[in-house]
Amino acid sequence: MIVIIGGGWAGLACAAALCRRNEGPITLVEAAPALGGRARGLIWNGRLIDNGQHLTIGAYRETFTLLDMVGAPTWHRQPLVWSGCGADRQISHQWRVPRLGWPWRALLGAVPGFTPRGWPLPWRKKMAAMLAKLSRDQWCLSRGYGDHGPHLTVARWLSDQHVPQGLIDHFWRPIAEGALNTEIESASAATLIRVLQDSLGGASDACDVLIPQRNLSIDGVDPIEQWLRSQGVQLLLGHRAVSLSQPSEGQWQVSVVRGNHQSFIDARAVVMALPCGPSERLWSDSHLPITSASRRWATMQHRAITTVWLALNDQQESALRQLPEWFVLNTLSGLPQVGQVVVRRPGAIGVVISAQSDSSQQSGREQLASGLALQLRVHLGLELETLDQKWITEKNATWACTVNAPRPSDQEQLGHTGIAGLFRAADDLVAGYPATIESAVRSGRSTAEQLLQR
Ligand SMILES: Cc1cc2nc3c(=O)[nH]c(=O)nc-3n(C[C@H](O)[C@H](O)[C@H](O)COP(=O)(O)OP(=O)(O)OC[C@H]3O[C@@H](n4cnc5c(N)ncnc54)[C@H](O)[C@@H]3O)c2cc1C
Repeated sequence: MIVIIGGGWAGLACAAALCRRNEGPITLVEAAPALGGRARGLIWNGRLIDNGQHLTIGAYRETFTLLDMVGAPTWHRQPLVWSGCGADRQISHQWRVPRLGWPWRALLGAVPGFTPRGWPLPWRKKMAAMLAKLSRDQWCLSRGYGDHGPHLTVARWLSDQHVPQGLIDHFWRPIAEGALNTEIESASAATLIRVLQDSLGGASDACDVLIPQRNLSIDGVDPIEQWLRSQGVQLLLGHRAVSLSQPSEGQWQVSVVRGNHQSFIDARAVVMALPCGPSERLWSDSHLPITSASRRWATMQHRAITTVWLALNDQQESALRQLPEWFVLNTLSGLPQVGQVVVRRPGAIGVVISAQSDSSQQSGREQLASGLALQLRVHLGLELETLDQKWITEKNATWACTVNAPRPSDQEQLGHTGIAGLFRAADDLVAGYPATIESAVRSGRSTAEQLLQR
């Protein structure tokens, strides 16, 4: 028996990879009543939404391979169109990233007559020059910065490149804070550049944005769940793993609790498909010896994301119909920059407030609401207080992708924890990548491979 603890995308991908190799009986234990973890769908007053807006792109190869394999419905695919909304529902800036291979995709942006619309010539020239230089340097900072490259923040990198403030506000800050969920003043430039390499510098479809037709659960998690069940995987939902013990060499026992009921599962190997915090808790509750992997979890910081879902009536929805499916709220002078991105869903919009550190969370919902109300009034002509709303704050939405975030060792990246038979899969184990569905899926697959090799 192999036990996987955690039914987020890492645990699901791990279970699927083990099943494909017919690796004996598998039990997946999930504390929540449903699978999906931090990337799951919800139904709110009959509307299909997600716990937080997830933008996935064509570069997420392993995620979409997994979804194809389980027969999930096709996701809505569209070319990347980076749009900025100014006042009165007007899209004032728009970069339709051409579906061309590198380098035409970036270089065409600098040629007048091509996109981006509304970008002053200095922005276009700067953008093309930056992308061309990154490509020349093979998407690596070490050329210009040597050993200092990994310690360079996004803000410092942009300042060294003399990027115009307007371009930072409209493009670089939202893309970096969206992809890394970390404020640019401390976010890692090397990781952002890795994201750019895979997307803007990738194949012609790498930048495509893919959105589930209904929500993340119906079009993603549920089909994986059904496939796993069809392969005989035992899924224990609503069961929390509370401790691990090793009754004899090569044998594990997982203690799980459901309500007041405790039971034990014997296993020859265990995968903790858990983020750093829950991994650390389970480790210390099990009195396992400290390893370099477990020491690292304790030092990871996190950032929150708040998504504010707003129900729209027919009239409000038709007033916004000409807007793209998702867009950035441009910085406007005198207006607080609370929400960064807006997504449209049938009968609703979601406003995303990302890169929230502990101190920014302390400002509290009231302060966020008053800033957001102003933004919505000016940008979209909506009155926040009149709208039916659902606020979802994921406190530990992602690990903080700062320049100080400790990098996983090669062994950790393969899923090893330092104790034989006890593995880990999670979105912090793919070096050079931020916390994403794709890194969770990659880690799940690669941990399964290590376990099979044992
Ligand atoms: C609001 C929000 C927006 C995001 N936006 C994006 C985006 O746009 N694009 C993108 O790619 N990624 C995005 N992410 C990140 C992405 O959701 C995560 O990187 C990914 O889902 C992590 O998956 P995981 O399986 O590693 O962890 P998790 O999803 O956290 O899965 C861990 C699971 O373990 C369970 N668990 C915990 N403790 C126990 C226990 N003791 N016993 C049993 N089960 C336990 C939890 O309930 C959970 O289901 C976003 C995340 C959030 C929260």
